[in-house]
Amino acid sequence: MPSSLLHLKNAILIDGTGAPPCKGDILIVGDRIIEVGLCTVPPGTPVVDCTGWVVCPGFIDAHSHSDLHVLKARLEKTQQGVTSEVVGNCGFSPYPTAGREDAVRKFANGILCGDERWGWGGATAYLKDLAQAPNATAYSLIGHGSMRVAVAGNEQRSLTTREMDRMEQLLEEALTAGAIGMSTGLMYAPGSCADADELECLCRIVARHNKIYATHMRSYSFGLEEAVEEQLDLARRTGCRLQISHLQAVGRPNWDRQRRVIEIIEQASQEGVDVAFDCYPYTAGNTVLTQLVPQWALNGGTDRMIERLLDPRLRKQIAEETRAKMALPWTDVVLTSVESQHNRWAVGMTLAALAERRALEPADLLLELLIEERGNATMLTFNQNEENLRQVLTHPFSIIITDGLFVHGKGHPRLHGTFPLLLGDICRDRHWLSLQEAIHKVTGKPAARFGLAQRGLLKPGYYADIAIFDATSINSAANYENPDVPPEGIRHILRNGTFLSAVSGEKPN
Ligand SMILES: [Zn+2]
Repeated sequence: MPSSLLHLKNAILIDGTGAPPCKGDILIVGDRIIEVGLCTVPPGTPVVDCTGWVVCPGFIDAHSHSDLHVLKARLEKTQQGVTSEVVGNCGFSPYPTAGREDAVRKFANGILCGDERWGWGGATAYLKDLAQAPNATAYSLIGHGSMRVAVAGNEQRSLTTREMDRMEQLLEEALTAGAIGMSTGLMYAPGSCADADELECLCRIVARHNKIYATHMRSYSFGLEEAVEEQLDLARRTGCRLQISHLQAVGRPNWDRQRRVIEIIEQASQEGVDVAFDCYPYTAGNTVLTQLVPQWALNGGTDRMIERLLDPRLRKQIAEETRAKMALPWTDVVLTSVESQHNRWAVGMTLAALAERRALEPADLLLELLIEERGNATMLTFNQNEENLRQVLTHPFSIIITDGLFVHGKGHPRLHGTFPLLLGDICRDRHWLSLQEAIHKVTGKPAARFGLAQRGLLKPGYYADIAIFDATSINSAANYENPDVPPEGIRHILRNGTFLSAVSGEKPN
């Protein structure tokens, strides 16, 4: 039986390399692109008339937390044109549980936003399921935090030699089974307890496999320079390929630090360190509420944290340290999800407003919420200014990502809107980047950086992952008030040569 053919006709082609647009056609056979530009089309081939539309590679979300959701036919990313995702970021992957399923689930669920049932013993089992993801081709980093919980529980201490050996073995197995690298989350306990030796041992293994090491660093605020230096040193010592996740400077007192760390990164790159970074096109971030407290409070897990919060002496100390490390005013922190029914009304409010409503001092309010929600709540934090955002988005080292979380509440618009916002608001309306530069940062560039073979370019022989959109109307319709709205202007999405039905558009005739 002959493979199915498809002809995309008369398009504005942007090929993902950063090259300027040109007019032309694409011929697809089965799951592959066969010809680009001038095509020899057999008679009777189904055709999509793309007159006036941009045809480019499907978008790659290289910093995703869809580890669980990509296994289902979720539409949030698909509707924005995403055809590939890199999961397992910031130290959180849903494997290896290695006999500690419950502890790994409790550790990772704040970020992975899953239920109480998931868990894969090791990389092989998870990657097998990941290969069946219905709407995207997904690649996984193994999370250092998950590995650490799997070998030593949620304990904040140095690992024994035996535990370290076990973790190295788990990493080795995962990289051999097809994980594309390792991630750390050094602001999240217990990954935050990893010392230089522990990270060095693991990064040597990553380097030996010539895979990538992605890091949510120890600090993005007061300690940003030291955090960047630590990661660059690690890359220097081990030779691993370093990807700094969601680079930014959090909080007004720290905004000047961003320019300095970018100079440090540029310098290291000139000296031969293989370093790059990623960023999302929003000034606000989205993470778990427990990020605001000192991470020692989480030693042993959230149940232990609640015990500490119920001890008046420890609670006082946690409140004081929380205030001291706060880089943002409480008016810039918005509650996005809670677990209990009785706090649902507060979702969408700032912690400052909530504190006033409940007649509590803001840090005390935060600790009360953590007790009431048993640690399960998320927040939006308005971290950055526009000037810094522009600097990271337009920097030649950056790729652009969603970092989207599937929170059960009122989330962040990036889950629905990142790539359309980039191509509409940021390219077309603000002219921060040309369309071909922006598309390169979400297609060919992440594919090369993360080693995603035959993806990310419009090129004969490559997979037919394709986004088709109207450059005059593309934009995010999601915003902070209404984050769960699909974008505008996407016409068709093809993954491996097949139309994804999430996007309504005319089918070929
Ligand atoms: Zn992160």
